[in-house]
Amino acid sequence: MINVYKNVDDIPVSLRTDAKSILKGPAKTTHEHRLQIIKDGSYPASPSVSYDARYKYIDIKKQLDGIYHGKCAFCETRNEQLHVEHFRPKRGGYYWLAYSWDNLLLACATCNSFKGNDFPLDKYGTRASFDPSYLSNINNHSAQLNQIERPLLINPETAPADVDRLLIFDEYGEVSSNDLCMAMTIEKCRLSRKALCNNRKKILDDLRNEIHACVNEAQGDLTILQSLLQHVKNNFVRGLEDETAEYIAFRRYILRTLIKEEIKKSFL
Ligand SMILES: [Zn+2]
Repeated sequence: MINVYKNVDDIPVSLRTDAKSILKGPAKTTHEHRLQIIKDGSYPASPSVSYDARYKYIDIKKQLDGIYHGKCAFCETRNEQLHVEHFRPKRGGYYWLAYSWDNLLLACATCNSFKGNDFPLDKYGTRASFDPSYLSNINNHSAQLNQIERPLLINPETAPADVDRLLIFDEYGEVSSNDLCMAMTIEKCRLSRKALCNNRKKILDDLRNEIHACVNEAQGDLTILQSLLQHVKNNFVRGLEDETAEYIAFRRYILRTLIKEEIKKSFL
């Protein structure tokens, strides 16, 4: 996970409370659906096209795609089938946030299904329930809710810019954290699942192969080796500027720690 910037004031048209119906005929606007859900006191229990389609509308999906660069909010895997999902689950007690801009993110089906409808809170947090005053700022009141609830899950959009520094990786691509919330997010979304570890490990393996190639090319000349390794490192740093790259948190971790060990080994 890395921090992701979302402009919470740049609300997709279909989610705005003053949006007119963008469908022809008698269809309700998203806000009218929202008011109906609030009146019912729950999100429809079984899948409902007319309700579900509203948080996946093309303008929402397009904006989220740009924000997340086509990657999952939690595991950073690139996927064409990313889903618009809810940070606070719409069927986990947060029905009134089903169409709130700051509650919608992009996630892969695997992370989302593991995350499920649980939304654990810190023991000092208080579970929020709907309050009519929320309607005046329904697309942007996560910050207020976070203060009340103290969630144990991390939202990449409201996390600090350096949130990835809470992650600790090993050379097998497994991830852990000493931070309570990050550890809970890793556990809930299963961010150390085998497929992700393999994908991350491949990045390190590729780097190792490049370093070995430098050792072979230098043929024992340490000055040449140093220069070749610097070139590899510079390329790796440049790769980090690509926001569309997968597993940026792991790449940053490699740069902070693992690359030094790999380079040290090449001089032995
Ligand atoms: Zn994912």
